[in-house]
Order: sequence, then C-alpha cells, then structure tokens
Amino acid sequence: MSEAAQSILTGLPEVRGRYKENAPLGAIGWFRCGGTAEVQFKPADIEDLQHFLKDCPEGVPINIFGALSNSIIRDGGLEGVTIRLGREFSAIDIEGDEVTAGALALDANVASVSADAGRGGLEFLSGIPGSIGGALRMNAGCYGTEIKDVLISCQALDKKGALHSFTPEDLGMSYRHIDLSTDYIFINATFRSKKETPEIVLARMADIKKSREDAQPIREKTGGSTFANPSTQDLEKAGLPLDTKVWKIIDSVGGRGLTIGGAMMSEKHCNFMINNGMATAQDLEDLGEEIRARVLEKHGITLRWEIRRIGKKLGE
Ligand SMILES: Cc1cc2nc3c(=O)[nH]c(=O)nc-3n(C[C@H](O)[C@H](O)[C@H](O)COP(=O)(O)OP(=O)(O)OC[C@H]3O[C@@H](n4cnc5c(N)ncnc54)[C@H](O)[C@@H]3O)c2cc1C
Repeated sequence: MSEAAQSILTGLPEVRGRYKENAPLGAIGWFRCGGTAEVQFKPADIEDLQHFLKDCPEGVPINIFGALSNSIIRDGGLEGVTIRLGREFSAIDIEGDEVTAGALALDANVASVSADAGRGGLEFLSGIPGSIGGALRMNAGCYGTEIKDVLISCQALDKKGALHSFTPEDLGMSYRHIDLSTDYIFINATFRSKKETPEIVLARMADIKKSREDAQPIREKTGGSTFANPSTQDLEKAGLPLDTKVWKIIDSVGGRGLTIGGAMMSEKHCNFMINNGMATAQDLEDLGEEIRARVLEKHGITLRWEIRRIGKKLGE
C-alpha cells in the first residue's frame, strides 16, 4: 500500500462499504487512459455515504464520478477519496407521470425503462452514455432537450452528509452548466414524462441512435463533445454567424484529424477527441489546449472545455 493512501485510510471513518487504495479510474473511463484514485470508497447505501461524509476528516479531497464518459483523469491520479456509487444507487421507479432514477442509473436505461412502460419525453437520454448524476452535474442534453427541461426535482448530499432537495430553478441550470457547488453528491432525480405508446417512443429512440451513429465516433474511446458551443456574444465579437457550432470553428483552425501523441480530434466529428489506443491523459489535454490556442488566435474566442479534467499531472 502506498504511504499516502495508508495515511489517508487510517484517518477515514469505519464504513459498511469498501475502501480500495490505488483504484483504477482513468483506465475504466470512456477514454481508457489516465491515473488512479488514491482511495476509492464504494458506500453500502445512502446511510453509509452520509455517515462517511459526516465523519470524514476536514481537508481530505472528495470526488465523485458516474460512468466517466465526460472526464479526463490526469496521469498522476486523484488525491483523496473518490466515491463510486454501486447498484444500490441505480434503481428506476415509475409512478404516474414521474420517473425517479438513482444517480448511478445509466441515462440510456432510464430512457428504455420509461419507453417500455409507455412513458415518453425522456428518449433524448438514450443518446447520452453517462449516469443520472453526471447528467445532472452537466445539465446534459441532445436533440433539443436537456435535463432542465424534464427535471422535477433531485436530491443531493452536502459535504457533511445532509440531504437536500433541489428544483431546476434552485440549481441555476443553463447550457452544460449548473450553479450548484461541486461539493454536492447527487443521489437521485425525478423527471416528468408523458403517456405514449411504447412503439412510438422506441421509434424516436431508434432515430436518435441512427443519427448518432451517422454523425459521431461513438464506438471510439472518447469523451463526447470536447468543448461547449461558444456564446452568441463571443460569436458576435468574432464576426461569426450566431448559429456557428464549435465543430465548425475547430475545423476552421485545422483541428479535424489533428493529432498529438495518441490523441486525435475525430475525422468524423471534429469536436470529439479520441484516444487512438496509446494516448495519455496529457496527450488529450495538450491536444485540447492546442485547439484552444488556435481558436483564440484566429477568432479571439476562448473555448470552454465541456470535458472535466481533474487530478495531478505526472510528476506534480
Ligand atoms: C460518445 C459520447 C457521446 C456523448 N454525447 C453527449 C450528448 O449528446 N450530450 C451531452 O450532454 N453529453 C454527451 N456526452 C458526455 C457525457 O456522456 C455527459 O456529460 C454525461 O452526462 C456524463 O455523465 P457521467 O456519469 O459519465 O459523468 P462523469 O464523467 O462520471 O462525471 C462528469 C461530472 O459529473 C460529476 N458527477 C458524476 N456523478 C455525480 C453525482 N452522483 N453527484 C455529483 N456529481 C456527479 C463528476 O464529478 C464530474 O464533474 C457524450 C459522451 C460520449 C462518450
């Protein structure tokens, strides 16, 4: 056991769940590269998680991830405790118009369970390969619908383990952003749905699947959209049409296919970054920064990373 992990572990509260030191993290994410978690904690259930948060010593960094489909874990790994929720947090319940899903439920499962039950309105979730917790944090969306449009309320724990309820207004949700502090851990969410025949909902999901397969490198080691679309103010200042998507801007600076080490901007959709098999997290981040530098120089726009980058670089 590494000295650092040992020293953290000895100060952590006794739990019913499991601690694991030097747990693979980047390697199990969508990019399949990057560092480990110094200590991973898998709580047995919500009470165990609350107890951990209440008694965790001040100053120990705490992180949480869902499906790791939107994150680069830097090569030097993540200090402190990384929480990984388990099956206890992935239930999906439908009552009338309301669909409630645990934070670890996969978006795609929420869409398909709802569709099978004849509930429409959540099919956009079938196109997002993350978990409900990640979708809340990112206000994830596609094809004209985002989480804030269907969210009734959600529950989250604060850093001392107290449970809070939030509406979309409380969360200040906007395009791929929420205002809530990253100290909060989402536990579940309740969404609005409408009654429809399963066949109609499933047909819409099939359309989404086809569009994505045609347009995006979804079978690659990727993290989805690398950068958010620029604001209309930024586009106006740059003299670009106000509906310009970020992929067009990336294309205009020679980003399509651009490669650094094992990282490449996809030829198919140039806002998607790909691990060609040999990439380090540093290659991915360097490539993203090269794109940002080129876009800043040519258009005066500072692109906002949509992908979360977290952890220490090697040697830090
Ligand atoms: C092929 C592909 C296509 C994609 N297409 C889309 C798309 O169309 N639209 C879109 O919006 N996104 C898309 N994404 C990005 C990604 O799937 C979404 O952002 C998704 O919501 C991330 O969820 P996750 O569970 O994987 O989050 P992770 O990568 O695990 O984490 C992302 C962030 O959420 C936080 N988080 C995760 N769980 C919790 C929790 N329980 N409580 C608090 N914070 C939490 C993490 O701390 C981190 O900051 C795509 C990704 C891929 C790989």
